[in-house]
Amino acid sequence: MSPTPCMRCHNNKAIVKRPKNHHKVCRDCFLTIFEDEVHHTIVSSRLFHPGERVAIGASGGKDSTVLASVLKTLNERHNYGLDLVLLSVDEGIKGYRDDSLETVKRNATQYEMPLQIVSYDQLYGWTMDQVVETIGKKGNCTYCGVFRRQALDRGAKILDIRHVVTGHNADDVAETVLMNLLRGDLPRLSRSTSIVTGSSASEVKRSKPLKYAYEKEIVLYAHHKKLDYFSTECIYSPEAFRGTARSLIKSLEKVRPSAILDIVRSGEDMARLTPDKGQGACGCDEGEGVGGCGSANGRSSGAELAQMEASLNNQPGSEGLETEITSNEASNGDGSVRLPIRHRRPKEHTPAPLQTLGQCVKCGYMSSQDMCQACTLLENLNKNRADIAI
Ligand SMILES: [Zn+2]
Ligand SMILES: [Zn+2]
Repeated sequence: MSPTPCMRCHNNKAIVKRPKNHHKVCRDCFLTIFEDEVHHTIVSSRLFHPGERVAIGASGGKDSTVLASVLKTLNERHNYGLDLVLLSVDEGIKGYRDDSLETVKRNATQYEMPLQIVSYDQLYGWTMDQVVETIGKKGNCTYCGVFRRQALDRGAKILDIRHVVTGHNADDVAETVLMNLLRGDLPRLSRSTSIVTGSSASEVKRSKPLKYAYEKEIVLYAHHKKLDYFSTECIYSPEAFRGTARSLIKSLEKVRPSAILDIVRSGEDMARLTPDKGQGACGCDEGEGVGGCGSANGRSSGAELAQMEASLNNQPGSEGLETEITSNEASNGDGSVRLPIRHRRPKEHTPAPLQTLGQCVKCGYMSSQDMCQACTLLENLNKNRADIAI
């Protein structure tokens, strides 16, 4: 059988079947299309301004590594005039984060970007290993998510940077839309769909330049660009509800590749219909979902992506075309779906009081509550520690 020519250049052999639309393209065209699409997202949403200093939330995982690489490429190609810095959070997870931080350090050299690392231990006096030792594996993602958000903010502050970009991809956004839809939480759903998210408890702007990029295309991009990234997943299990939403989305993608983008777009449409969008009344969560690993990149997408990576590494050439992977349901252990504690906001039709930005009485960090969410969690943890000491 003669090789399939690239649909774009009609010249080279097609070696990639795009997960997004099943177009068959050559390596170079795939990389160009991917970069052009991210550029389009950046330009059409006016994400940056010339001279802006931007911190890339870097975990060493595929998403943030691809983000760093693409931003470097586009910054040079299109003269964005950005000053890019890598910002990493050390959660204190042995055998996972310490290894992935080594990857980030290599990335810093490869991309010639300065690197700032902030650690949970140094900020909170707790590593995630110690948190899990105290509270167990269940619900630890909630702690990690709250801590990470504040850690990134603080890291940005140290660098005097007001804009942090994260590697959230289309699959992540679709997941969050679905989770919030299933929870009946339209305000949060709305916030989660915007490319730029801020919260009332932070003056650091967050954005997701890879918002429309499929996770599978990110893996393909990293592979074909031979990027150095860390693919081990977090050793602590992700939030069960997110895992379930994730499996559901992967199943939908199998029968309808456009499903992921369709969910993202539906979320955007619903956001337009939600009246109090933007008020961001609740500073407790930026809408990325309560589960912490939204930006962890290494976090679980089940065995499916691991299989994809393995097959990409084992079969160079035309086999790369095959992006269909046999079903491998991500199991959620006992199958239970337990929501993390959620502080219910007032009913939507009763106008929520506008919250003013104050300071946490404990740590002085900006907060819309007396005590910031991290300190509330820490108080719990420290109480546990004291109980054990007695
Ligand atoms: Zn081509
Ligand atoms: Zn605090």
